[in-house]
Amino acid sequence: MIPGGVDSPVRSFRSVGGTPYTVVRGSGAYVDDVEGHRYLDFVQSYGASLLGHAHPDVVRVLSDAVGEGTTFGAPTPGEVLLAEAITSRVPGLEQVRLVSSGTEAVMSAVRLARGATGRERIVKFDGCYHGHSDALLVAGGSGVAQMGLPGSAGVTEGAVRDTVVAPYNEVPTLDDSIAAVLVEPVAANMNLVAPVEGFLAGLRAECDRVGALLIFDEVITGFRLAPGGAGEFYSVIPDLWCFGKVIGGGLPVGAFGGSREVMKSLAPLGPVYQAGTLSGNPLATAAGVAVLNHMRPEHYVELSNRVQNFAQQLREAIESSGLYAQTPVVGPLMGLYLSREPFAPPRNFDEAKVVCENGLYRHFFHAMLLRGFALAPGAYEILFLSMAHTDADLRRTVVRAAEAAKETAQS
Ligand SMILES: *Cc1c(COP(=O)(O)O)cnc(C)c1O
Repeated sequence: MIPGGVDSPVRSFRSVGGTPYTVVRGSGAYVDDVEGHRYLDFVQSYGASLLGHAHPDVVRVLSDAVGEGTTFGAPTPGEVLLAEAITSRVPGLEQVRLVSSGTEAVMSAVRLARGATGRERIVKFDGCYHGHSDALLVAGGSGVAQMGLPGSAGVTEGAVRDTVVAPYNEVPTLDDSIAAVLVEPVAANMNLVAPVEGFLAGLRAECDRVGALLIFDEVITGFRLAPGGAGEFYSVIPDLWCFGKVIGGGLPVGAFGGSREVMKSLAPLGPVYQAGTLSGNPLATAAGVAVLNHMRPEHYVELSNRVQNFAQQLREAIESSGLYAQTPVVGPLMGLYLSREPFAPPRNFDEAKVVCENGLYRHFFHAMLLRGFALAPGAYEILFLSMAHTDADLRRTVVRAAEAAKETAQS
């Protein structure tokens, strides 16, 4: 019925082997599968879940909203509330347009950048994932990297002719043919690669020099890294932002935005067309608002501290079992690289690939899954912790990870 049994290739166990577990329900940090197994879930819908599964705040607003009708094709108060929740938290962001996925958000932001600048070429970075629109699949991380695909069949040369790919963490020299530079401010689809000091500020300066727009793809970092996202975290303000994942509270939402000045190029005010039947959907906006309103600045500090400790303990546990590990952390974002040799944290896709392709992760992944811990089924993904992961959950994870690492080392 469904090709490969999945509606998104990264969910298949293609790169780790075996058969995916089928989830019937989730609660907080845990998911249950059809066979009655319970897993501590470090996937959390690849970051869409920040409070944990079926959080009472979200369940309540959804139950209230569903009886009022689920889509109208007219403006609703909910979309204004979500737009307000987003723009009021992100420094420099004045307006957003809501869409239904991260892919749509980035695709639309790129179109807007081209329309607003009258230029055609865009720069993206090797190993960054920006959704599955044609022009942006090239050199994508995540599932594209897992499958070993250079991009995708079905994408024409014409569609990617104006996409320039540069190595992450090096500021490219631009010229005035470039409409926009698109970047994951923290690269979280080639496992975790933090921006080196000066990279994001360098991009800002280089874009300003040639009149190109800087687009932050904050589909992962937005409202997870910090209350105001990566722009606030690194004090670098882009021209356009893309959001997804967290802002939908587990329902399908994306958003892209910028200053009033840039956003006035968008229809109906300007010539750049963009639309969506379910955009600003009442259920999705209600869930998104509930999550953003729940999260206080101290929650971000709490989650970041918890992740910091966990990362350090996990690394020590793995290294005491005969492997080498790097568990890079940026705020509450955490990566995991395994190797048989000592190594430094990767700074770009080429370096990440060397580690991610060494074959160890699949052993570790299955050894953890058997013990009831669900990591993402691919070496290029990061670990997502929710507000519902407790210190006791994480202590248990560390103990069992030491066993899993030992088995992996002996494999
Ligand atoms: C997940 C992701 C996307 C795509 O979002 P979808 O909702 O899956 O379309 C885009 N950019 C980044 C950085 C992502 O992690």
